[in-house]
Amino acid sequence: MTSTPVIAIHGGAGTIAAASADPTSAQPYRDALHAIVSAAQAALLRGASALDAVCLAVEMLEDCPLFNAGHGAVFTHDETHELDAAVMDGASLRAGAVAGTTRVRRPVRAARAVMEEGAHVLLAGAGADAFARERGLEMVDPSYFSTDARRKQLHQALAANRVALDHDGAPLVEGSKFGTVGAVALDLHGHLAAATSTGGMTNKRVGRVGDTPLIGAGTYADDRSAAVSCTGSGEMFMRAVAAYDVCARMHYAGQSLQQATEAVVMQTLPAIDGRGGLIAVDRLGNVCLPFNTEGMYRAHARGAELPHTAIHR
Ligand code: ASP
Repeated sequence: MTSTPVIAIHGGAGTIAAASADPTSAQPYRDALHAIVSAAQAALLRGASALDAVCLAVEMLEDCPLFNAGHGAVFTHDETHELDAAVMDGASLRAGAVAGTTRVRRPVRAARAVMEEGAHVLLAGAGADAFARERGLEMVDPSYFSTDARRKQLHQALAANRVALDHDGAPLVEGSKFGTVGAVALDLHGHLAAATSTGGMTNKRVGRVGDTPLIGAGTYADDRSAAVSCTGSGEMFMRAVAAYDVCARMHYAGQSLQQATEAVVMQTLPAIDGRGGLIAVDRLGNVCLPFNTEGMYRAHARGAELPHTAIHR
């Protein structure tokens, strides 16, 4: 039995600046989302696995400077970059992830290599970089990840901290957003996969790891329920084990994808001040893209239908 393939991608959620609501400045984001979702859609229609499709989409999002992953990743407090990524295959429950890499051009490829090697699920820091190098992945000077826009965001965040003297939470400045990228897919063979990649949060402490590379928190896929990729205030997604909670609600409580994703994004996360959203697809091809912020960069495509892209509600 073949399924109609489905792909959904996100480029982060948050207080998306009013400027990007204006059609001209939103256009580059829409164009990038459209091009990337179309490439993954075409791959799925040619018979690519869900795993290959989500990796392709996330690599393209990593290469795009508009999003906070790979080139264009946000800065840590020390003006460096530390990147996190994860991938999970819903058919086998195999998963791989890297945290705090500084030199791998496309961290999602390193996550996939960890998964394929099979001995471990999560590699961090210098060991993750060394593993990627050994596996022949493309390595870059850390300055490759930097863009002027992200440096400006860091300087704003640093200034806001000094003014606000508020060290109790995420160092977000008005107009900032979570720009993590992710993809979920259902392939022709009925298999699911999810992948997520991020620079983390602007002004994060060096060594901080978010939800993205933690299997179950920011990324999860299980053919029996759904594939999920999250974006938002990572600490709360970790505490809620958000991606796995969607799948658990479906698997144990018989909830639909819509019920499970709404419960997590609109109830569980807000109850602990969790801001953000997620993208999810189930084995029947249902897609849900809920968020509790002003916007979430997102796109999805079903079969050969024209893709939909959206930013605000
Ligand atoms: N969830 C990511 C993190 O906490 C941030 C994001 O979604 O942009 O690292």
